[in-house]
Amino acid sequence: MITKRTKIVCTLGPSTWDKKSISRLFKAGMNVARINTAFIEDLKELKEIADIVRSISSEIALMLDIKGNDVRLNNFSTPIKLKKGDEIVIGSSTGDQIYPANYLDLYKDLKKGDELFFDDGYVKVVVEKISKKKIYCKVREGEVLNPGKSLNTPGIYLSLPPITKKDKEQIDFCVKDGWDFVAASYIRDKKDAQAVMKYLKDTNVHVIAKIEEGMGVSNIEDIIQVVDGIMIARGDMAVEMPYEQIPSIQKMVISLCNIAAKPVINATEVVNSMKNQPRPTRAEITDVANAILDGTDAIMTSGETSVGRYPDEAVRAISRIAVENEKYLESMLIESRIKKQDQIAVAMTEAAFQVIFELDINKVFVITQTGTTARMLSRYDLPVEIDAFVPNDTIKRQLAMTKGVTSYVFPPQHKTEDYSLLKLVEYAINNDLTKSSDKILIFGKVYWTEVDFPNIFEYVEMKKFLKDMKDKLEIKKS
Ligand code: PEP
Repeated sequence: MITKRTKIVCTLGPSTWDKKSISRLFKAGMNVARINTAFIEDLKELKEIADIVRSISSEIALMLDIKGNDVRLNNFSTPIKLKKGDEIVIGSSTGDQIYPANYLDLYKDLKKGDELFFDDGYVKVVVEKISKKKIYCKVREGEVLNPGKSLNTPGIYLSLPPITKKDKEQIDFCVKDGWDFVAASYIRDKKDAQAVMKYLKDTNVHVIAKIEEGMGVSNIEDIIQVVDGIMIARGDMAVEMPYEQIPSIQKMVISLCNIAAKPVINATEVVNSMKNQPRPTRAEITDVANAILDGTDAIMTSGETSVGRYPDEAVRAISRIAVENEKYLESMLIESRIKKQDQIAVAMTEAAFQVIFELDINKVFVITQTGTTARMLSRYDLPVEIDAFVPNDTIKRQLAMTKGVTSYVFPPQHKTEDYSLLKLVEYAINNDLTKSSDKILIFGKVYWTEVDFPNIFEYVEMKKFLKDMKDKLEIKKS
């Protein structure tokens, strides 16, 4: 069976908020379910969706996308028609008609002449004056202002914290409920990244920094060092920055994440036209393929799966594009530039790179307690299947974001006997992870039993192994 290497993160929403739809997304190739908290009313909704996802498969990772200093308009009752030159007034209290829902103090950070963008940039206004805590603006572009839409302030540093009181309540719930990732919006620098990491310290949750504007792009190397992964949030980025810069920023961020062995997600409008039609456009097909060839770990859907008419078709289209184009990924040894990286894992994965080509290996079993060694191997885009053996379901789901890696909990949960390398291969045979023609490299740090030399690097030719070990193996299938 051909499996796709690229992982797919699906944003759930009104189109997919039920068991049947999510099952279809999973069958079509979804690996991670993302909940955008901009559209969440209360914690009950988070619990409801997490339980539905888990009832479909324990393999699907859950991602909470917190809004931090991502500012949105309030939900005023009816859309407001606009024309160039109209005045709109943004207030600072919940009694005003229009106000920034999660940042009533916005007027304090603005001055005359500042440009504001609403609704992903479809409406542009300029600040004329600020008086009595109200922002008076003139419309420059746009025809309608819709309620609850995004509000971007390119180049202006907002005094909002990267993690708000509402975010903290949602994170606390998700930590208790065993979610796998928190994606933090508008991470601008190392300080923002550290604030989110600090809040999640001592938890099993991995932090994904969303890079959405110029400061985040300028400070990307520092941010990557601190967090567990990166999302290239092209939606806001294309409003906050000159949109023609997005392709080169995408390539640069993916490459830096590959070097650091941190998963990277390419997000927004990947197959946007599929919100309304069952096939992607030629440009969308090419965009998805290019992100894969740039080396992304994951592709993320937004409106396609949250409000679109063809959610599972959209995911199937991404899967198809992935399987076809992954063939052209070139394996490349990457220089490890990250300080404090696990030196043994660096050395082992570099050696694996050489050995795989030298011995014509087609499969790798990586034994990894935290997932790091698997992530380090994944970044080389090797022409082999990578099976990671990990101690628990959380690490397994977190590897659901790393391209080319399929993971298994080993020893199988609730088993307490002493496990060995022989048992691992036996498990692989009994679970159809290997066939007799395989040439396998097994390496990593053995964590499941006390051994004198836990770091192993073994070459197994299955045909010979099966012949030699026949008597010692408990093979359940013929
Ligand atoms: C984006 O801006 O691309 C993005 C993913 O952010 P959000 O959907 O949270 O606005």
